[in-house]
Amino acid sequence: MNTIVMKFGGSSVADNEKLKTVASKIISMYEKQNKIIVVVSAQGKTTDKLINEAYELSNKPNNREMDVLLSSGEQVSIAKLSILLNDLGYSAVSLTGWQAGIFTNNANQNALIENIDVDRINKELDEGKIVIIAGFQGYNENLDITTFGRGGSDTTAVAIASAMQAKNCYIFSDVDGVYTVDPNKISEAKKIPALSYREMLELSSEGAKVLHGRCVEIAEKYKIPIITKSTFNSNAGTVISDIIEENTIKSVAKKEISRISIIGTGIVRNINFMRKLLDVIEKNKFDILELQITESKISVDFKNIITDDIVQELNKMI
Ligand code: ADP
Ligand code: ASP
Ligand code: MG
Repeated sequence: MNTIVMKFGGSSVADNEKLKTVASKIISMYEKQNKIIVVVSAQGKTTDKLINEAYELSNKPNNREMDVLLSSGEQVSIAKLSILLNDLGYSAVSLTGWQAGIFTNNANQNALIENIDVDRINKELDEGKIVIIAGFQGYNENLDITTFGRGGSDTTAVAIASAMQAKNCYIFSDVDGVYTVDPNKISEAKKIPALSYREMLELSSEGAKVLHGRCVEIAEKYKIPIITKSTFNSNAGTVISDIIEENTIKSVAKKEISRISIIGTGIVRNINFMRKLLDVIEKNKFDILELQITESKISVDFKNIITDDIVQELNKMI
């Protein structure tokens, strides 16, 4: 039997209808004789709402209490999904971060996972249950709740997949994979079938929130393939693994208003692309502030504000 981790983000669990779609995806994977661990985020915009409400009460909300508050969103999701799966006749159990044995350091709202005690998870799986774990949270040495920073449920999923030596870690969201640029901003974005860990890490660090950067680091360290897919269709997604394809430009990311990064292993040796990039810069009379080049990324900081048209133009070259 294979162990599979399936993570569903906030937009995938936003309401009861969507939870039903999520449940059917889980059931079909469970029916294929897999041990299933599910990680879920808070529903819809719950986390944003909780943060706003806290700041309405205090300009400087207490750090410990913020983690108690923020972790509550994921707790609602796991309970609802478990209620639904049990109702559909599938034995499921919800576990908060501490119940799942996720031990972290003390950095409130930015905690790092130090260890996962998988005994409870294994016990529930051995009883044939679908295990549903609250994303984005753990506990520290004071037995207090900690959270991992925005988007941190991805990290829960990959860390659990590593600790359980899972076959795959699926990250389900509202997009059916990683694209050459954010598909919700640029209509001509193209889906990328495969990326190396390094390329995905560069992309996450340059602002593509489709995956939490820290989860990619963990996946690389423990060699866990990540498969990003959509909750709402069954299209092939993007596989992130240690397979490296040299000299292919994979993606363009815009960070804040004036930084553009182009990602792809061996990009520095792709003279044609470098030439085209310089053409775009010259044609638009952009002033460069700083240029950074690594094996898998070129980042340019401009004095100018970079519009999505420019991102579009660069995207066309990929
Ligand atoms: P979830 O809530 O399921 O964790 P996120 O909102 O964190 O999902 O991440 C998915 C979003 O990432 C997409 O809706 C998309 O707008 C954004 N995104 C940014 N860059 C990219 C990219 N290169 N490829 C795919 N999605 C991207
Ligand atoms: N709910 C948290 C957030 O909105 C964690 C996550 O969704 O991954 O950032
Ligand atoms: Mg996310």
